[in-house]
Formats: sequence, structure tokens, C-alpha cells
Amino acid sequence: MIKEIYVAGEWRVGKGNMIESIFPADHRIVNAQLSTASLDDVEDAIQKAEQSWREPSWRSSLPFQRAKILYKVADLIEARADELSRLQTRDNGKPLAETKGLVLSAAATARYVAAACESMDEELTSQRANDVLTMSIHEPVGVVAAITPWNSPIASEVQKLAPALAAGNAVILKPAEATSLIALELAKIFEEAGLPKGLLSVLVGKGSVVGEAIVKHPLVKKISFTGGTNTGRHLAHIAAEKLITTSLELGGKSPTIILPDADIELACKGIAYGIFSSAGQACIAGSRLFIHRSIYKQCLERLIDITQNLTIGHPEQAGTHVGPLISQAHLASVDRYVQLAIQEGGKVEIGGQILSDGDFSNGSFYTPTIITGLSNQAQTCQEEIFGPVLVVLPYDNEQDLLVQANDSCYGLAAGIWTENYRKAWQLAKALEVGTVWINTYKKFSISAPFGGYKESGIGREKGRQGLLAYTQQKSIYIGLNEQPNNWSDPFNRV
Ligand code: NAD
Repeated sequence: MIKEIYVAGEWRVGKGNMIESIFPADHRIVNAQLSTASLDDVEDAIQKAEQSWREPSWRSSLPFQRAKILYKVADLIEARADELSRLQTRDNGKPLAETKGLVLSAAATARYVAAACESMDEELTSQRANDVLTMSIHEPVGVVAAITPWNSPIASEVQKLAPALAAGNAVILKPAEATSLIALELAKIFEEAGLPKGLLSVLVGKGSVVGEAIVKHPLVKKISFTGGTNTGRHLAHIAAEKLITTSLELGGKSPTIILPDADIELACKGIAYGIFSSAGQACIAGSRLFIHRSIYKQCLERLIDITQNLTIGHPEQAGTHVGPLISQAHLASVDRYVQLAIQEGGKVEIGGQILSDGDFSNGSFYTPTIITGLSNQAQTCQEEIFGPVLVVLPYDNEQDLLVQANDSCYGLAAGIWTENYRKAWQLAKALEVGTVWINTYKKFSISAPFGGYKESGIGREKGRQGLLAYTQQKSIYIGLNEQPNNWSDPFNRV
């Protein structure tokens, strides 16, 4: 059966080319045939979105009323958690335990944003003249383009839809081609939760065609993007030309650091989780590891041991740690990086193999890989591989460590493993990244703002401020004086 797209509250077969959703653990399994949006569908969705957010009933809706829809969305997501998690695993091959986590995180996000929305106060600013009251209020921007990647769907999508809609906007969502099924299911949930028709469209299709048409449309007033740095840079150019704002959540090459006094067992387990969970397909994957030379050998041996004992397997099987990569093309790209590392003088300590026998024969499985012997300047240490590949480097002193850790165009996240919290604090402050984990990794809280330094992004999602990113601020002056304006009053500008 052909999957329909969701255009402003209407389900229809999109008039664009057909694409397939394929199960990455077995590329012979086609989950669904998906219709994609044509340029006419894009135009229709955006025109209706523009009408819908301007609709007086939505424009005058109060934050607590919009919050009610999001509370319902959260309940519906939670009630269907197992089913949604299975669907996502079919789409992108992540193990069920991980996709369940993403589904529950989406529910938590919707609930948190609802609470933030209904409890957000507007501001009476400090009074500067007796005859004028000043206030600052937040208003929607209009039609928002939400563009998402395939690696953490539903969580990334709700992270954009919830604050954008809570703030009173309309949203056109363009999910990654590979994970469109879960995005379409999300549309059904918003529909069931009572979101007025027209405010949400889910337009499946290629980024360079459908995504590009959405972001370039004159009625689109904000681009909220999560994906690769090159795509983000391209979208920033488009936004600059249109003079609209962007939120860009981009790539990373995150350093993790083991200090000489660290709890080595805790550190090595956390590091293996930080790089090999999601088969390394995570923006925040801790893919560059720096170990103090005094404990280098010991840590490396323990890491190899932990890695050897990870279960690579079918994502629907309980106990699988590492599932398949998203596609055969991505598998080839990860392997190319490992071959490049060898050419650059690196030594593959473990892994470095495409699995093609037995249960793995039709999937895109890559063994968790640890590489040593490279300098931080190597291409493999500088570029985002987005796979289960860890490069390990020794360091001698903190000065040298900081130079190397910060020597990256990216600045998304970092991890520090030490028992010395004074040192951890100093390092956390000195690292040029948007998130630092100390003695843990890849833990997320919706209340903590998330985003990148440098080429890892612009703007922040999550936290109470995440909602404001989808608003524009208006100042209102209320005159209290019954006299007309006085041309020579020195207090006209205070
Ligand atoms: P991608 O940039 O190829 O695609 C992301 C989305 O952009 C997809 O929906 C794609 O169709 C769309 N797109 C592509 N070209 C477009 C265009 N010209 N106009 C409009 N839309 C377009 O990224 P990907 O391969 O799907 O995801 C992996 C990347 O995402 C990695 O670099 C990863 O680090 C990054 N990522 C970042 C975060 C974060 O929060 N910082 C989170 C997850 C993933």
C-alpha cells in the first residue's frame, strides 16, 4: 500500500516520485512505499499553513489552551510507545531499547514544553518615566520549516514541533527520507490530540527537492534544522538571503578525556556507550578519546575488552548493543574512513570489518572499531564519520590536551572522566563545546539547553528558552499622560 503524505490536515498521495522505506537490518525487507510531495503539494501546504496560523481562533488561543494539545500528544505517544518504537526500528535499524528511549523522550519533551508554555510570563519592563508603562511580549513568527535527520526521529521532530506550535506558529515538517514513517505517525497523533487542521504538514521527500522548496518559500519565516554541517551551511545562506532566523543543530567530533585519577572502569564503560550505542550514528558520539599517557595502556586494553563483548545483532532482538548502519551507502562510507585511517598510519586495534555472513548478510553491519596511532590532525580525527569508530590518542599534559581537544571545526559536546571535580570544572569551562558531560555521557535532560559551538550549530533547543526561539519579541509602550507629546521633553528617551 502506498503511504500518503499529510498536507495541512488532509491525507493524500503526494504527487512527487515514490520512495521506499527499507529495514537496515535486512535490505530485502521493504517496510512501505512512500509517496512524496510535489512542488504543488509544498505550495498548498505552505499557503494553508499561512492561513491557519493567522486564523483568529488560533491567533487568540491562550498558551494554556495550546499546552492542552501538547499534554494530549504526550499521553498518546506514551500510550503507543512500543508500537512507535518498533516502527522506528524498522525505519532506521536502531535497537528497540534505543528507539523506546527516543519515543519516551518525545513524550517528555511535549509535556515539558506544554508546562513551559502555559507558565511562561510576559514582562513588564522597568519603568523609566512616570507617564509610560513598557512591556515586552512574545509573538509567533508564522510558518516554520522543521527539517530533521534520520538518526533520532520522533525525539528530534517533537523537539521542533512542540515549541513551534506552543508558540502559536504553523509547521511544515520535512523528515529524512529514511525515517518518514515515524513522522507520518506523529502527524496522526497531533491530529488525534486536536491540533486544528492546517497548522501541521508532513511532507515526505528528498531534501534537495522538497526541503529546498520549503525553506526557499517566501512565506516560511524560520528554519529549524537538524542535520549535517554542510546542509546547515547551505540553509543558513538561504535564510540570510531571506533575512529570516535559523536554529541549526549540526555535526560533531566530540572529544572525551580520561584524566589520570579517573575511575577507569566507569570511564571505559561510559566511553564505549558514548561511541558505540546507535552504532555511532549520533551527533554527540564521543568519537575522539584522549587518555593520559600514564594510564593509556591500561585504559586501551579495558576498552578493547569491553568492545569485544558488545553484542552486534538484530535490532529487534533483546540484548543487542550495536545494530546496523542506516544504509549500504553509509556502511561503505564508514569503511572508507577506516581504510583512510590505515593509510594515515593508524592501527586498527579491534573492528574495522563489514559483517556479511549469516544473519548479517543482508544488513549493513559494521564492527565497533578502535583506532590508535593517529595524530589529531589526521583526517579521520577531524571529520565526522557518523559510525562506530573511535580514535584514541594519548596526551601528556593538560595544556597539550586542551589544544588538541579544541582543535576541531566542531564544538558539540565533550566528556570528562575524573574524580577531581575542581579540575573537571576548569576543563569544562575551557572546552569549546555546547554540552559537557562529567563522569557520564549521552545523558539528556529536556530542561538543559542543547546546541553547538563553532560549526556544530547556531541557537539552542530544549530548556524554557527553547520555546522563545520560535517567537519574535514585541515592545509595547502605554502612555499614562493625558497631555499630548511634548516636543522638548528631555525624558522622551530614557
Ligand atoms: P543531512 O544534512 O543529509 O539531512 C538532514 C535533513 O536535511 C534531511 O531531512 C534531508 O532530507 C534534509 N536536506 C538535505 N538537503 C536539503 C536541502 N538542500 N534543503 C532542505 N533540506 C535538506 O543529515 P543526515 O545525514 O540526515 O543526518 C546526519 C547528520 O545530522 C550528522 O552530521 C549529525 O551529526 C547531524 N545531527 C545533528 C544533531 C544535533 O542535534 N546537533 C542531531 C542529530 C543529527
